[in-house]
Amino acid sequence: MPETPPLLDSYGRPHADLRISVTDRCNIRCFYCMPNEHVIFQERSMLLTFEEIERFVKVAAKLGIRKLRLTGGEPLVRRELPVLIEKLAKIETIEDIALTTNGLLLSRYAQALKDAGLHRLNISLDALSAEKFERITRRKGFRQVLDGIHTAQAIGFEKIKINAVAIAGLSEEEIVPFGHFAREQGLEVRFIEFMPLDAEQNWQSNQVLSGEKIITMLSEAILPLVPCPRPDPSQPATDYQFEDGRGRIGFINPVTQPFCSTCNRLRITAEGQIRNCLFSQEEWDARSLMRKGGTDQELSELIRACVLAKKAGHGIHSEDFHRPARAMYQIGG
Ligand code: SF4
Repeated sequence: MPETPPLLDSYGRPHADLRISVTDRCNIRCFYCMPNEHVIFQERSMLLTFEEIERFVKVAAKLGIRKLRLTGGEPLVRRELPVLIEKLAKIETIEDIALTTNGLLLSRYAQALKDAGLHRLNISLDALSAEKFERITRRKGFRQVLDGIHTAQAIGFEKIKINAVAIAGLSEEEIVPFGHFAREQGLEVRFIEFMPLDAEQNWQSNQVLSGEKIITMLSEAILPLVPCPRPDPSQPATDYQFEDGRGRIGFINPVTQPFCSTCNRLRITAEGQIRNCLFSQEEWDARSLMRKGGTDQELSELIRACVLAKKAGHGIHSEDFHRPARAMYQIGG
């Protein structure tokens, strides 16, 4: 049996990481992602079923996908998510399954997620005060998120990271408290630069609080940050730790320090559209292919075609940059 060629794009980047959005719905309304009101969500029948997701992953795994990340909207609002995780955890060549959640429902589901085979958790939290949390999310729930973090720690999730979107003019006061939080909780806090993917299209480049600036703030206020080894060249984050070894801080700087040259990520939206980049203008329709009786071979060819068409990078700084038609909640981070 000839060996399956790796899933390479035209720049030679191998793709091994699949991000699966399981819903566009969410229980909060972060202004850098969703509209506050009158959100039109996908009909349930338009979403991929768990069986369709499982089939898609099995085909993608044969092409070289090894790591999965479940996203949304908010993935925990999709009912019975542990059932899906159990199915995916049974796929032999899948080595890692992670989840990105806003944490509001985590206390309720953490044990079931762990039992189903989930390995890693990224919890989105952009502020360490209820007031600022509500300004950003336009909903209540700060306490629930903290409870979710503590529940996940208590039941033994070892790999927990906090994702904090950093926005100039809003997040500066949160930076040092997050530095202390990382040190006290033994959790990695990752600062993510604000990207032009907000549904209300208000993003401006001067709202980007750069990773570089945050390193200076933390080093001056707490202790110098020293770079950590980078085991996986395709990982989006650059990791640091405080020089005394207590507290790890990561930076995802897609705007000021793009990492597209080593990108290994592929995405599928909740309604089954394959995207080769967060900022892709094009999509490949896996749902229709699966629902009209397409074969695994045809699905495999569709995935390859999508990856081959991938551009070098997001192009945010180029003159002809156009925001994608979808906002963040319709793609899944
Ligand atoms: S912007 Fe696109 S190409 Fe760049 S790292 Fe993100 S997904 Fe990959």
